[in-house]
Amino acid sequence: MQIAKNTVVQFHYTLSDATGVLETSHDHDPVLYLHGQPGLIDGLVEAMEGREAGDSFRVELPMDKAYGPVLENAVQKVQIKHLHGAKKWKPGMVAIIQTEEGQRQVTVIKVGLSQATVDSNHPLAGKDLIFDVEILSVREATEEELAHGHAHGAGGHQH
Ligand code: ZN
Repeated sequence: MQIAKNTVVQFHYTLSDATGVLETSHDHDPVLYLHGQPGLIDGLVEAMEGREAGDSFRVELPMDKAYGPVLENAVQKVQIKHLHGAKKWKPGMVAIIQTEEGQRQVTVIKVGLSQATVDSNHPLAGKDLIFDVEILSVREATEEELAHGHAHGAGGHQH
């Protein structure tokens, strides 16, 4: 079966940039995702289209197709109560904030009493990325997965 809209794909990846390996799924569960739903970056989704179980391939994504360039005006102050993902915050930690465009990862720079200074550049902004992908399985999504808009199972959404 080929990867197309409404298929559930399980894959391993290793993510590198010019300096070396940044992260890999090989030391934990493979990633499980529902193709055609938001979640993965667009350039990776495009490269997945039409692949099959057993395929291995490399995708090189210039920063514009990955997380974009580093923006200098991305440093801002937010109320600490709007930072999600931990109870106590220290510089260097990654938090989730809700914006008009949806959830966004930010890096905490400075923590005050009620406000924190955060950098809303994605940690991978400004990097040209290389994904080495290994497709493990491709199957039809279940009706329940389609209704929820995400894949179920190890590496996917757990209820
Ligand atoms: Zn669900």
